[in-house]
Amino acid sequence: MIPIIPAGSSKPADVSPAGNQQLWLKPGQIALPGSPPLSLYVHIPWCVRKCPYCDFNSHAAPGKNDSHDIPEDIYLDALRADLEQSLPLVWGRPVHTVFIGGGTPSLLSAAGMDRLLSDIRALLPLDADAEITMEANPGTFEAERFASYRASGINRLSIGIQSFDDRHLQALGRIHGEREARAAIDIALKHFDNVNLDLMYALPGQTIDECVRDLEAALSYGTTHLSLYHLTLEPNTLFAKYPPALPDEDIAYEMQDIIEARTMQAGFRHYETSAYAQPHREAKHNLNYWRFGDYLGIGAGAHGKLSFPNRILRQMRHKHPATYMEQAMAGNAVQEVREVGADELPFEFMLNALRLTDGVPASSFHDYTGLPLHTISKQLAAAEKKGLLEADPTTIKPTELGRRFLNDLQEMFLKD
Ligand code: SF4
Repeated sequence: MIPIIPAGSSKPADVSPAGNQQLWLKPGQIALPGSPPLSLYVHIPWCVRKCPYCDFNSHAAPGKNDSHDIPEDIYLDALRADLEQSLPLVWGRPVHTVFIGGGTPSLLSAAGMDRLLSDIRALLPLDADAEITMEANPGTFEAERFASYRASGINRLSIGIQSFDDRHLQALGRIHGEREARAAIDIALKHFDNVNLDLMYALPGQTIDECVRDLEAALSYGTTHLSLYHLTLEPNTLFAKYPPALPDEDIAYEMQDIIEARTMQAGFRHYETSAYAQPHREAKHNLNYWRFGDYLGIGAGAHGKLSFPNRILRQMRHKHPATYMEQAMAGNAVQEVREVGADELPFEFMLNALRLTDGVPASSFHDYTGLPLHTISKQLAAAEKKGLLEADPTTIKPTELGRRFLNDLQEMFLKD
């Protein structure tokens, strides 16, 4: 059992398991009226190779000559052990969505994925109609394996296409080209009726016409969901160290405007900063994050957020796959547990909720943070006065201006 770092401190309160348990239950500064909906995230930390722009916890798969020899059985043992150790924190709570992300989960064998889903079902009360998403990358697609993933219970696929242009895919260090991207989508659509395509724009040297071509190629497949990300240079990546020449801000804005107009024309709704969905096909798992719901995160480096009657905790698992496997099997998968302070909660809540085009019901602020709404009434009024929030007391909803200047709006809820 890992000690909890109390809010406002950098040191653990009590290192004994009993001490930790008391800390979850003792009176705190907040009072949650109930438990937010619960999701499960499972992290698979390997990829065929590391992309130069990627800051996720992903590691080149061991094995020579692209054999992708991941220690699947040991990792699945560790995930099960991790989940078993986590059960006391989520007893009796139904799980509404599962997201198997990475990394590249489609490196798992059909039998491995089946085992993972059986373990999850055996240990957690999963809703009968739970959304179960798996991330997959072109270059790791085989028709038979994907048919088997579907039969095991995966009902939504999210494919990392990024671009259909060989030149840009090469500049992004992806292992696939246009041909593999298209083959992956064809296989996915044969077995799944709920498919997301991830695409990036404002790529090194990309013109507006090239961005439009990528978008049109993605739209031509009629998938239920698109995620369109502006490429950014993240710290501690190869691109941050050796930055490529990116389109300037005005061009990126123009690309964004074209994306909004064209996706809307094709029947998609821009419901979150980077997410576009056909009617009723929003990503339920991600919606739970943005609404400040709870999630248990298992796997190397996975983060979790769990609520208790008087406190909200954030957990982080050991990051390196080898350390994680060793520690999970020894009963110590979690590296850090931190209590979120009452003064941090307004910003954490708004950081997520304000990404949503429709915002959230005002009442959910109290339901999910345990703080009265008047805690943020001054900031709400100031944001409304600046034209960044809608003047509606029943919802917290960004205006178009608020969405365009999202960072400024979110920062208004930072603690003083
Ligand atoms: S495939 Fe995805 S997760 Fe893996 S290194 Fe590339 S961007 Fe990162």
